[in-house]
Amino acid sequence: MKRLALLVLFFSFLLTACGTAPSPSPTVTAVEGSIFAMDTEMSFTVYGTQEDLTAVTRTIFDLDAKLSVTRSESPVARLNAQGSAEADDDLISLTQYAREIGDATGGALDVTLYPIVKAWGFTTGEHTVPDGNTIAALLEKVDYSAMEVTGTTIALPAGTEVDFGALAKGYAGERCAKLLRERGVTSAILRLSGNIQTVGTKPDGSAWRVGIQDPAGGSEDLLGILEVADRAVVTSGGYQRYFVEDGVTYHHIMDPATGSPARSGLTSVTIISDSGTWADGLSTALFVMGREKALAYWQTHRDFEAVLAEETGDVWITPGLKDTFTLSAKSYVLHTLEE
Ligand code: ADP
Ligand code: MG
Repeated sequence: MKRLALLVLFFSFLLTACGTAPSPSPTVTAVEGSIFAMDTEMSFTVYGTQEDLTAVTRTIFDLDAKLSVTRSESPVARLNAQGSAEADDDLISLTQYAREIGDATGGALDVTLYPIVKAWGFTTGEHTVPDGNTIAALLEKVDYSAMEVTGTTIALPAGTEVDFGALAKGYAGERCAKLLRERGVTSAILRLSGNIQTVGTKPDGSAWRVGIQDPAGGSEDLLGILEVADRAVVTSGGYQRYFVEDGVTYHHIMDPATGSPARSGLTSVTIISDSGTWADGLSTALFVMGREKALAYWQTHRDFEAVLAEETGDVWITPGLKDTFTLSAKSYVLHTLEE
């Protein structure tokens, strides 16, 4: 009897499902969450289920544990301490990305700068300006191309140490976006500090609006707003982590050529890309390269968009952003690169 009732119910459901005009898809609800990971605040809005959100936070905590340079048991910490370590797929992928982006940018991104970053005190917050001899000695061991992958083992020459900090958040965003898409999510925005990863559009089909911070202003001041869908938007700026000594500001983005904070005239670089990892790597590298080299890099690659802010108050955007970037800060002059 019960079974029959169920059958009737099932068929009446089929009838209603087939017999009526397609109803608008059920409204997806937003699930929100925030965590502290990779040394920063992150927040997420996922149009999906609580499980979708949990899959994101788990992935990020897991990556954080693997990539941490400070937790002695992490694979990266072991690699730095012992010169070699067993690596899983994430670590191997990151090493490959680091090599590719390092090669593409003429070494402006170099994940083996870690000893230099430590010498300036950016890892502990005990900031100091190292003397020239110290920097020169440490620079001898800086060379991302010396990272060696054999099967599932990564090895480094003695004295070389790696930190994927310049890529980690972008990689994490890219990984989570892929995961969400596989789970059928078509709308989400993941804010991994200054790394924004979008999945699809907003539920109503309109683009996500992502604010870019004014590098010369406070954290609430906007340089401009970008409209994006399904892309990563990553910003690197000298204003994010820095210290001042004897009236000079030293920030955390290093020029591998000098072992000192990059002084390229740029105050922030935003990259919009299909790949969060490339967006993160390029935002750091193009900041080091400066406006002219950065724009020349775009001319020869063209598989991303960029917003460059200069000390002079000039803002440069690539042609693809003509209709999707709106300048908010009136103190800047906007230039659009020619095709
Ligand atoms: P953030 O991690 O603050 O979002 P970035 O993605 O620009 O910013 O990465 C900067 C971090 O990467 C620094 O804190 C430092 O550990 C490391 N780093 C600094 N300069 C370079 C560089 N030229 N190449 C690779 N890593 C760098
Ligand atoms: Mg970066």
